[in-house]
Amino acid sequence: MKIKREFDRLTLLIILLFSVIPLLAIITHNNLIILASFILVILVMIFLRKSVNAKLIQPILDISHKSYLMSSGKLDTEISVASNDELSDLADNINLLAGSLREKIRVLEKSIQREQRVVRELAILNEFIGYVSSELNFEAILRKLIEKTRDLMKSEAGVIILFRPDRTKSFLSTDKLIDEQFIKDMLSVDSGGLARIIAEQKPIRNNNVAIPLSNGNEISNFIALSLHSTTDLQCLLIMLNRDAGFSREDEDSFLNFAFQAFQTISLQSELAKLATTDGLTGLHNHRVFQDRLSEEILRAERYKSKLFLLIIDIDHFKSFNDTYGHQTGDDVLKTMAKIIKECIRKVDFAARYGGEEFVLILPETDCGHTYKVAERIRRAVMDYPFHLKDGTRAGLTVSVGVACFPEDSAEKEDLIGKADKALYFAKDLGRNRACLYRDICEPE
Ligand code: GH3
Ligand code: MG
Ligand code: MG
Repeated sequence: MKIKREFDRLTLLIILLFSVIPLLAIITHNNLIILASFILVILVMIFLRKSVNAKLIQPILDISHKSYLMSSGKLDTEISVASNDELSDLADNINLLAGSLREKIRVLEKSIQREQRVVRELAILNEFIGYVSSELNFEAILRKLIEKTRDLMKSEAGVIILFRPDRTKSFLSTDKLIDEQFIKDMLSVDSGGLARIIAEQKPIRNNNVAIPLSNGNEISNFIALSLHSTTDLQCLLIMLNRDAGFSREDEDSFLNFAFQAFQTISLQSELAKLATTDGLTGLHNHRVFQDRLSEEILRAERYKSKLFLLIIDIDHFKSFNDTYGHQTGDDVLKTMAKIIKECIRKVDFAARYGGEEFVLILPETDCGHTYKVAERIRRAVMDYPFHLKDGTRAGLTVSVGVACFPEDSAEKEDLIGKADKALYFAKDLGRNRACLYRDICEPE
């Protein structure tokens, strides 16, 4: 109310002056007094003008100019009006308004940044899912996972350690300076090391390590996450930077992206497994066998090595089924698969060829060893106590036919035919035996 009060005072002063001067002129008829009164009026008017200018016009101009600056985006502008009146209140209110706009803009910018990050995350995830659906090579998929995570995190290097259900491990790194030993050293610096990361369900972030690289540089920052799939795949994904630390936001992006990407991988690997595995025995199926045999023949051609193909057929299985039922027959097929797997090396390949026939591919070996394997399987089946539901024991045997690449045939279909011939020769000889094609073929 200060300005209004002053305005009232001024109005009163002007009214007084303009009523007193004519009154004095009338009363005194003294020109000097009239002149002095006029000079006084002029001085008062000049004083009034200055005072109005300083107290009213200037602050209004200042407020108008600064509020214009604010409206054009310079929200950091501060209006300061020293007078303790309505104008300074107005200035304070405009400053408060600018402050709250600044805060709203900051919140808005943060949420836009977050949204942009999510959009980027989704775009990279989408690209990755597209890749996974068109790629069958598991290692290539894992490499893509590191590459895409590295893009997302803008990090300098990435590593994946994959733990398979069969306890085998794969180590993949984008940088040859960062090997398995380096990761071990790095994780041992972090309290708890690998075990802690595996136990945690969230990323472990450390921006304070100092692990030297062999080229003289050192890694100071890492973020690591342990990922588990429903299909027993487990992996450790690690991103590394020399200088740039990983932030809280990086941690969120890393978790979201890696989790979904790994779910896609494990789903894909589960589908691939379903498509390549025989549902009853868990062995590879016929299609995988055909692909594998082609690959192994190519490899053997390249390295001028031999490979052996074995076809195993259960003897009199039809009558076993007829006697004990198909259910019991299925149990026998499962047991057969187990026995076969126990009799071969890791490099050997076993599949269910179809019905009650199994195939084996034995690379990098010789005829003597192959025959021993065939005999080992035959004996193991013969000696196996197939317990039936009624508590009795059934005896089962198998016959095995063996063909060798390239001696018996250098062509895939023909090689299978030769192994089949050897098998039927074994059947003809009375079953429960292994026959090599080379021993039955007639010299050409
Ligand atoms: P051989 O000694 O000459 O081999 O006689 P076999 O009776 O075993 O004859 P063959 O090899 O032709 O076997 C075919 C039989 O295998 C028919 C069927 O009863 C049985 N069989 C095929 N696939 C399955 C299966 O998935 N489950 C069960 N339980 N039996 C199967
Ligand atoms: Mg058969
Ligand atoms: Mg049979």
